[in-house]
Amino acid sequence: MQHYNQAIWDDTETEGYEPLLSEKGLEEFHIEDSALPDDLTRDTVTLPELSEPELARHYTRLSQMNYGIDSGPYPLGSCTMKYNPKFTEDIAALPSVSVHPDRDGDNVQGTLEVYYELQEYLSQIGGMDAVTLQPPAGAAGEFTGILVAKAYHEHNGTGEQRTEVIVPASAHGTNFASAALAGYDVVELPADDDGRVDLDALSSAVGESTSALMLTNPNTLGLFERDIEEIASIVHDSGGLLYYDGANLNALLGRARPGDMGFDVMHYNVHKTFATPHGGGGPGAGPIGVSEELAPFLPTPQVRKVDNKYELFEPKRTIGKVHGSMGNWLVLLKTHAYICRLGADGLQDTSAKAVLNANYLASQIDLEIPFGPFHHEFVASAETDAGDFAKRMLDYGAHPPTTKWPEIVSEALMTEPTEAESKESLDQLAAAFNAVAADSDEALESAPERTSARRIDQTKAARDPRLSWHRLDT
Ligand SMILES: *Cc1c(COP(=O)(O)O)cnc(C)c1O
Repeated sequence: MQHYNQAIWDDTETEGYEPLLSEKGLEEFHIEDSALPDDLTRDTVTLPELSEPELARHYTRLSQMNYGIDSGPYPLGSCTMKYNPKFTEDIAALPSVSVHPDRDGDNVQGTLEVYYELQEYLSQIGGMDAVTLQPPAGAAGEFTGILVAKAYHEHNGTGEQRTEVIVPASAHGTNFASAALAGYDVVELPADDDGRVDLDALSSAVGESTSALMLTNPNTLGLFERDIEEIASIVHDSGGLLYYDGANLNALLGRARPGDMGFDVMHYNVHKTFATPHGGGGPGAGPIGVSEELAPFLPTPQVRKVDNKYELFEPKRTIGKVHGSMGNWLVLLKTHAYICRLGADGLQDTSAKAVLNANYLASQIDLEIPFGPFHHEFVASAETDAGDFAKRMLDYGAHPPTTKWPEIVSEALMTEPTEAESKESLDQLAAAFNAVAADSDEALESAPERTSARRIDQTKAARDPRLSWHRLDT
């Protein structure tokens, strides 16, 4: 069993927190000649003056008061918080890869080649006919994909009639938001008794007003929608489109493709499925893939290869631009590097391990886990307040799972170990779950005890934020 004490760097002079760099010592510097006009420049500037060791220790201390994927497992269900290999960071840090977004296509052929190849790789991985790399997050990809679906229906003259998007109750909140933001009425679909799409409910929800069904497969309970072909024909027979939320694609890599299941449009969360540290709002990338019929509506510009040269072009009926340049370039570059390093066999190995790890971990935990067998994640019931359970896990050096969602399981602990964890690390994670399950109610209610920040008021932090580096509890 692993025990954990997070560092607390208290400083009595600053009332108990690691001082800011500016609090460690400021110095006024004079600015010599500047090439800029006088009215745009200052004569002096005040900056912290510190030695390199002081600086290094400051950031190291802050990192010791934090927890990240480099500290231990991070089984936050649905988010795929896996370890990100450092070689992708090295590639993104090469000075030669940063080019100005407005440079002419002729002298950024190497950059366009990477964009083009990544469009091709993602098309192959998803079984889609065309890909845009522009959307800067999964949610932005959803929004873009729904706008593409809308433009398609409008072009076919059924835009006014198709006013609804159907979303299963277990879907990620962004699905509901993306459809609503695109101007649709959202119809929520209940799950059946085994946690999958209820076909009868789907048949009665689908009709002439259906623009699309948004589906996550495997769904957020970690279950593969085994009736996917029937689901696809119900939706297609009514003239609706099938949207695939690709956040869980690490469960299927190299084994099954959304395009082959009948999906017309999908997004890829490349920061989840491939590599880029994410969380806290970014940065990410949410490319979308579409079928041939939808390709003319994709955002502009796209990259194509003509006579061994790469060039930008505008799809015929484009919905316009969804990003200032062509997407989050460095995130896309890391994705490209990761796919090249792993190759087809490596990607297939990823999905095997993601699924094996989730099922192994589920088998080692002394909690009720309905449904199964699972793909890349499972949802256990905490059998007590899932929020308290999660806080107590911190004391055992484990980042907690996602809590209280999906609501199909009461006091849900949605757990995704990811393919990156070894058996030893999964065993430690299971030991943390089991230690918490055996702990007293009092221990759970007063947790966490051994972290640098104790329990914070999460509602207040969201509704009434006071952004400060000060420890407000002292
Ligand atoms: C993470 C996630 C999203 C949203 O993706 P972001 O990149 O965070 O915007 C959508 N659907 C599911 C199922 C997810 O897990």
